[in-house]
Amino acid sequence: MAEEPLSSHMIMHVDMDAFFAAVEKHDNPDLEGRPVIVGARPGSRGVVAACSYEARRFGLHSAMPISTAYKLCPHEVYIRPRMKRYAHVSRRVMAALAMVSPHVEPTSIDEAFVDVTGLDRHSGGLEETGRRTKDAVFKETGLTCSVGIGPNRLIAKIASDFEKPDGLTVVRPGAVLDFLAPLSVSVLRGVGKKLGQQLEGAGIRTVLDLRKRTEPELARRFGAAAGKKLFAQARGIASDLVGGTGTRKSISKETTFNEDVRDRDVVRETMRSQATAVGSIARREGTAGRTVNVKIRLAGFETHTRSRTFEKATNLDGEIFRQGWTLYQKSGFTNRPVRLIGIGISNLEKKSQLELFSEKSDKERRLAEAKDRIVARFGKNAVGLRSPRRDPLT
Ligand SMILES: [Mg+2]
Repeated sequence: MAEEPLSSHMIMHVDMDAFFAAVEKHDNPDLEGRPVIVGARPGSRGVVAACSYEARRFGLHSAMPISTAYKLCPHEVYIRPRMKRYAHVSRRVMAALAMVSPHVEPTSIDEAFVDVTGLDRHSGGLEETGRRTKDAVFKETGLTCSVGIGPNRLIAKIASDFEKPDGLTVVRPGAVLDFLAPLSVSVLRGVGKKLGQQLEGAGIRTVLDLRKRTEPELARRFGAAAGKKLFAQARGIASDLVGGTGTRKSISKETTFNEDVRDRDVVRETMRSQATAVGSIARREGTAGRTVNVKIRLAGFETHTRSRTFEKATNLDGEIFRQGWTLYQKSGFTNRPVRLIGIGISNLEKKSQLELFSEKSDKERRLAEAKDRIVARFGKNAVGLRSPRRDPLT
């Protein structure tokens, strides 16, 4: 049996509950208690983007064809996505997390990793840190989230899903092996439908089943890289870094849609929230990129990249987004349905070497940096990120 995975780090994963549907319910109290389905128009070929927990009781789930959802739930509330609104609420969520720890890495519009190493020492334990985080997110947005805390990203992410919705699960280093043992191997990174079936074919269903196999056997059956990863994950070993190491070559975010997207607004708002995540990571790490990259995947895995290199580096959300959106618009693929879209920066430079795009962006940069600093130190009130006595989301 492998030794206990020891780690001095503690990582928290925060995942908003039924995010798009929750925002819609928050904005319209008449929807309380009703199944809410956010996604394509019933009758179209699209899919469910998100649905409330009431809708899930009818068997609905995200990525389900909207026509199937409509058959199961014909009289309920169908809403088209408002990505701009969700992106706005997402920024509030990330601002709330920045009050808990300065090390926040957003990984999607409604999820983030937070390094909470050492926070338990002076604030009453890891459970208390988790509760404080949930309170901060709720105060800032009026929405619930699920929180998982563990010694690395893998455990934190599995833990945040463990008691969803409104969950809080803490897995201490000494409890990792027991926590993982009975879980399906599908909770592990890289185990999708195909590898899941292959594992099942080899008689491996739970993480404990997996832990009983040797690394050479796993490598022989599933390939050297996958075998190595499975072997490590079965023992709860994974990365405990949040926000990268500072030696990285690029910062990027990409999103795979549940089905091919024809709506350009969805592509644009997705890129906008990705650019926000990229910009905030870059500013936190004190870097900026001279090259802006865009990745576009069309139906059938046809993948294209576009990039443009500038004389001066940037780490500003708005600038990254504008350059990325321009690259997309000039890509020649705007009339094709999009399966995946991604944006990033590379050719990273340390902040001290930075020169600025223009006077205008100098102002934008100083504003963005000031905001990051103030939110990290004093929290939301200082930068007017909320209006307390009114609707906390406006
Ligand atoms: Mg979520």
